[in-house]
Amino acid sequence: MTSPADTPTRSFPAHPLYSRITPQAVPPRPTRAPRIPPAPAPPLRTSPRALVTGLAAGGALTVTLWLVQAEPSLRLDALFATLAHLSGLLAGYGILTMLLLMARVPAIEHGVGADRLARWHALGGRYVLGLCFAHAALALCGYAAHTGTDILTTTLDLMRYPGLAAAAAGTALLTAVGASSARAVRRRVRHETWRALHLLTYLGAGLAFAHQLSGPDLAGGPLAAWLWTMLHSTVGVLLVWYRLVVPVRQALRHSLRVIEVRTEGPGVVSVVMQGLGLDALRAEPGQFFRWRFLHRRLWRTSLPFSLSAPVRDDTLRITVKACGDHTRRIRRLRPGVRVLATGPFGALTAHRRTRRKVLLLAGGVGITPLRALFETLPGNPGDLTLLYRAGDAAQLVLREELEAIADSRGAALHYLLGPSDDPFDPLAPHALRRLVPDLDEHDVYLCGPPGMSSAAAGALKRAGVPGSHIHTEHFAF
Ligand SMILES: Cc1cc2nc3c(=O)[nH]c(=O)nc-3n(C[C@H](O)[C@H](O)[C@H](O)COP(=O)(O)OP(=O)(O)OC[C@H]3O[C@@H](n4cnc5c(N)ncnc54)[C@H](O)[C@@H]3O)c2cc1C
Repeated sequence: MTSPADTPTRSFPAHPLYSRITPQAVPPRPTRAPRIPPAPAPPLRTSPRALVTGLAAGGALTVTLWLVQAEPSLRLDALFATLAHLSGLLAGYGILTMLLLMARVPAIEHGVGADRLARWHALGGRYVLGLCFAHAALALCGYAAHTGTDILTTTLDLMRYPGLAAAAAGTALLTAVGASSARAVRRRVRHETWRALHLLTYLGAGLAFAHQLSGPDLAGGPLAAWLWTMLHSTVGVLLVWYRLVVPVRQALRHSLRVIEVRTEGPGVVSVVMQGLGLDALRAEPGQFFRWRFLHRRLWRTSLPFSLSAPVRDDTLRITVKACGDHTRRIRRLRPGVRVLATGPFGALTAHRRTRRKVLLLAGGVGITPLRALFETLPGNPGDLTLLYRAGDAAQLVLREELEAIADSRGAALHYLLGPSDDPFDPLAPHALRRLVPDLDEHDVYLCGPPGMSSAAAGALKRAGVPGSHIHTEHFAF
């Protein structure tokens, strides 16, 4: 046994502030240091900036499409009509963009990150709905001004046209999906119900597309109509390919099965799965998959969990904390259960690194992707530091592995223990700087519960770490 004093990897400052940073007894060392698998060839990635630039360019093209067809007029009905065309085209483009963000295209997922894409989708969805409403209102006003009738008569009149009835139905569907995503509603609705409702988006988008094709901007210009159709077809093919074909192909090719379920701590288990040809997945440490366990009470839902170890010997491992119905059931899985895994997803990987020194900052079960990175991020002794925040020592999971990795790599490992409402905050800027004096020379990988993550990101920035060097993953969509 080695005492903490002779272990350079766990040096705890002898300051009263750090009384809660508890050095623990060192467990027996494993006889063999973990094998670091060779890094896979870098996959294609789109940076967030490139994606935003591309989408903005598409938006500009859409406005150009409107401009070349717009006929300047100061008549009120013509003004309403031309603004309705602009908002309609932008709404159509927006719907397409929202679908693309959720198409799970690997280059976008791995470069931008699933959580960021989901945030953009949620925010963008509100603007797109706003554009749909603006389009409908402007078109109604334009028609009413043209015919000299009131809005109600105009609405009933226009519903006789199939293209307009389709548009109204599409807008109603998209509104229902948007409403189900409002925070207050989402908290009350089961995740599966919300997902099922979200499938209506495809129907809404299809109806909107039919309406746009019959509208004056596209119907009048064969080239514009062709371009619009090509854009929609491309996004449609990406959706079918990455959300349907790839998962089925992966399931058939890899034949994953549970081989072990191991208790790691109170309410936390690791599930080890074995399959065929898993190297072909090119899963990187820090990434996650969506897992569907073909078990009586779990097969209906697919849940996101990060890999808690690098892929090796055709096995994948996740570490799951029981926090709801499904995660509680995972503890009862038995070897032999078949698993459908879709992925890998996520951008919390080595490619984001810009500095030699790296700080990994984990809260609770957020340790899972950071555990895999701790083992595999290239670095010399002294380059890596892992800070692991937990309520108390009993809640630390994968501890023996973390300590073995720290020892074999000459990396620093600190446990920051104590309740989250403790007056001493180990994640305060001065506390972080005391633990990692050259903090501003580090890239920081951060993963934990949403409250802890945002507090830690703020503290890191106040401690001098630029936002562009803080890489986070939220365990919530
Ligand atoms: C990218 C990512 C990586 C994650 N990695 C891990 C990990 O390594 N270990 C771990 O223990 N937890 C991880 N989680 C969290 C884990 O996915 C949720 O705790 C789990 O899905 C909750 O399921 P439940 O039915 O037991 O709980 P519930 O009580 O039903 O749900 C709890 C919360 O989880 C969210 N949730 C439920 N189902 C899903 C779903 N299918 N997809 C997305 N969110 C859902 C809901 O928003 C809900 O608010 C990760 C989450 C994400 C998004």
